[in-house]
Amino acid sequence: MIQRRMTRQIRVGGVPIGGGAPIPVQSMTNTPTQDVSATVAQIRRLEEAGCDIVRVAVPDAAAAQAIGAIKARIRIPVIADVHFDHRLAIAAARSGADGLRINPGNIGGSKKVKEVVECARNYGIPIRIGVNSGSLEKDLLNKYNGATPEGMVASALRHVELLRALDFHDIKVSLKASDVRRTVAAYRQLSAVTDLPLHLGVTEAGTLFSGLIKSALGIGTLLAEGIGDTLRVSLTRDPVEEVRAGYEILAALDIRRRGPEIIACPTCGRTRIDLFGIVEQVEKALTASRAPIKIAVMGCVVNGPGEAREADIGIAGGDGIGALFRKGKVIRTFPEEQLVEVLLKEVAKLEKRRRPKADGLKSGASAAGRRSTLTERTFKNNG
Ligand code: SF4
Repeated sequence: MIQRRMTRQIRVGGVPIGGGAPIPVQSMTNTPTQDVSATVAQIRRLEEAGCDIVRVAVPDAAAAQAIGAIKARIRIPVIADVHFDHRLAIAAARSGADGLRINPGNIGGSKKVKEVVECARNYGIPIRIGVNSGSLEKDLLNKYNGATPEGMVASALRHVELLRALDFHDIKVSLKASDVRRTVAAYRQLSAVTDLPLHLGVTEAGTLFSGLIKSALGIGTLLAEGIGDTLRVSLTRDPVEEVRAGYEILAALDIRRRGPEIIACPTCGRTRIDLFGIVEQVEKALTASRAPIKIAVMGCVVNGPGEAREADIGIAGGDGIGALFRKGKVIRTFPEEQLVEVLLKEVAKLEKRRRPKADGLKSGASAAGRRSTLTERTFKNNG
């Protein structure tokens, strides 16, 4: 069981972050925010995928203004991502944003930071201090010989102090670099000196393949050490893939799961069925499922059931015969072409029996703010 480091708890809308709360999965839209219809459509797809909190870019007044109209048509909290112009942060808060993501270093000086902080305080919304290795202050670059983990931590602490001096404590922090080792080192150092909740991510992680590996390594390493209170996997892809990846990382560490776990064998010379195609069909058919079931899709009847004996239910096939097995034991055989159909029927039966109860996040949310769509099982060690 992973022992998570205890942090202060903040709330973004109805979603608690830190303090042992379940780890929310975040993503960011890539539609023009002022295009309300397109942004709402994308957020609804993110909600369906299990996104807990969504961030939208606020590059201008029209985008800030659109937040109100967007929020009226979605269920999850919205964070406004603002750079350079403090007036946009204020406009976004007024429009209904549930949180602000700013880099106080580029918002135009302490007077403007103060205005943003006062606004956040008035609206009761938190601020994420987002330090990015690519935009570190010049004096810190000189002092720390480049965008080192030490420099990133110094930048974060400087901004935290700025907000704390204004008696504002509703803060979370992210420290993103595009390489894994620097990201991990920076978060480790910061975690050792602060109890603020941390938002994990590896920025500009890259295309699907490299981005997944970098994020799994970076975010996964930190989570395995108990560091991190929320996460976003950054991918140059449909943001829905980011959410899926976030859940995969959490599930791989047994921290939080949403829906079934599908395991499959890697295939070998004994495989006589189109296992890749079958797994894809099963995965697609179960996208909306929330049942915490372990499902195995195996390439041969001889070894498959035994190799996947931990699975609640599974199929294996070869030489014209399909087999349905439960906990490693074959319970019936049927023609191979019915593999997917038989499995899905069995899963539907199991789902009925194992409907997950309300998850830990909802129970932690305030009655007024229960807008999260989380309904999945949350493992005990997640809080
Ligand atoms: Fe090979 Fe069968 Fe094992 Fe799959 S389950 S890897 S086909 S032996």
